[in-house]
Amino acid sequence: MVWPVIDNTRQALRVAVIGAGPSGAYAVQALCNATNRAGPVEVDVFDRLPTPYGLVRYGVAPDHVKMKSVIGSLRQMYRHAQVRFLGNVQVGQDLSIDDLRHYYDAVLLAVGAAVDRRLGIPGEDLPGSHSATDFVSWYSGHPDVAPERFTLDATSVVVIGVGNVALDVARVLAKSAGELESTDIPPRVLDALADSRITDIHILGRRGPAQAKFTSKELAELGVLANADVTVRPEDLVLNDADAAAVEDSPVLRRNLATLRSWAGRPLQGRPRRIHLRFFARPVELTGTDHVTGIRVERTAVDQAGNAVGTGQRDEIEAQLVLRSIGYRGRPIAGVPFDEESGVVPNDGGRVVDGRTPVPGLYVAGWIKRGPTGIIGTNKRDAAETVAAVLEDAPHLRRAAKRHRDAVLAALHRRGVHVVPWEGWEAIDAAELALGAQFGRGRVKIHDRVELLSAARG
Ligand code: NAP
Repeated sequence: MVWPVIDNTRQALRVAVIGAGPSGAYAVQALCNATNRAGPVEVDVFDRLPTPYGLVRYGVAPDHVKMKSVIGSLRQMYRHAQVRFLGNVQVGQDLSIDDLRHYYDAVLLAVGAAVDRRLGIPGEDLPGSHSATDFVSWYSGHPDVAPERFTLDATSVVVIGVGNVALDVARVLAKSAGELESTDIPPRVLDALADSRITDIHILGRRGPAQAKFTSKELAELGVLANADVTVRPEDLVLNDADAAAVEDSPVLRRNLATLRSWAGRPLQGRPRRIHLRFFARPVELTGTDHVTGIRVERTAVDQAGNAVGTGQRDEIEAQLVLRSIGYRGRPIAGVPFDEESGVVPNDGGRVVDGRTPVPGLYVAGWIKRGPTGIIGTNKRDAAETVAAVLEDAPHLRRAAKRHRDAVLAALHRRGVHVVPWEGWEAIDAAELALGAQFGRGRVKIHDRVELLSAARG
């Protein structure tokens, strides 16, 4: 393809970044840092929520205060003079990708991976079976998941999956409300956690400890909970030769195995809750007629290729609540190629491709680009790669027709969209801090979308 070469030396490059989470923020930072090299750049950051920070606000567990403190750096990126935050705008609904191309020379999608993977087993949709994403959104006060969605009247819970999200969910369920009341959890969620009747939390890995996805620090946190004992079956820690070699080679796995071995067979200390960490247990069916009553699992072995192979040995774990924490996938966006199998937008180093052909002016960063992996900092490198592609292409990009900064705002206004600017977010921020002061806490999240929008108006 031959792209028109346009003299862009006098005009600022206009970029729309879609998604104000960490990958959006790192893309913004890389674009601003490049300004001196690449000429002026103007960036508008859209988010469907009236609030910035994406999964740092609505995914990082409320008790992981240190991890949340990255917000301090992300804030600086969004406050840059060349950058505008346009919250409460849903791309795909309020503005299409085609619309955006009228206003921006480049569109960079950093929309994350918002959809849960499916187990594909009978009973998956029974009442009482939820995605961990919904549960995380609930305790994080996400406006899409109402406070009444979860009542914790179950006594036994199963969390499926052995990644860091599963550990977050299990830890929040295991802690007492007293341990969580210094966090930003919304009051009605905290009340539900305080009323929890949960005594047993089962975390299930379909493969062995050598294949578990969680990281060592997150695993070790389970062992120091004041309100819960943690148990592991010694037989789950017996490794085949291939796994023993993998553990030997990996510092993370070595630490994980040492932690798990220190828990195996350890007598219960009589704490109010128990976390049962179980491996080689593949979910086969969720049981129950009008509500989950349990989960049937099959014992597995891991073959030479690292796959779980059923042994035919089955048993059932009683549970009134099942949380499926088996990873995420991206959601297709109208007008953007999508790979259904991997759940990401096909791309070459951040340039969106249709088949093998790059789609001029369209880019991706973060989980929608590489899938749901890595830690927050991983997005920095990832966004830098994408922005390098944007800047390399910049001289050749077709220039947007409607270049005035306010043109997009006027269009949104005509469509009745209530755009929340950065000042609107600052008003929400102040309202949450004031609410926190009222409860004797640092911050208390506003859960309801209407209340968020009303706080944004100041
Ligand atoms: P993940 O790390 O990919 O873990 C998903 C888990 O689900 C794996 O144990 C996987 O097992 C299991 N699974 C997948 N399909 C399954 C099935 N059909 N049946 C049973 N189990 C199944 O995903 P995640 O926990 O959602 O985390 C996403 C990303 O966010 C990760 O990079 C994670 O580290 C990051 N994160 C980090 C933190 C933190 O740093 N504290 C907190 C939260 C999230 P297999 O391996 O066998 O497929």
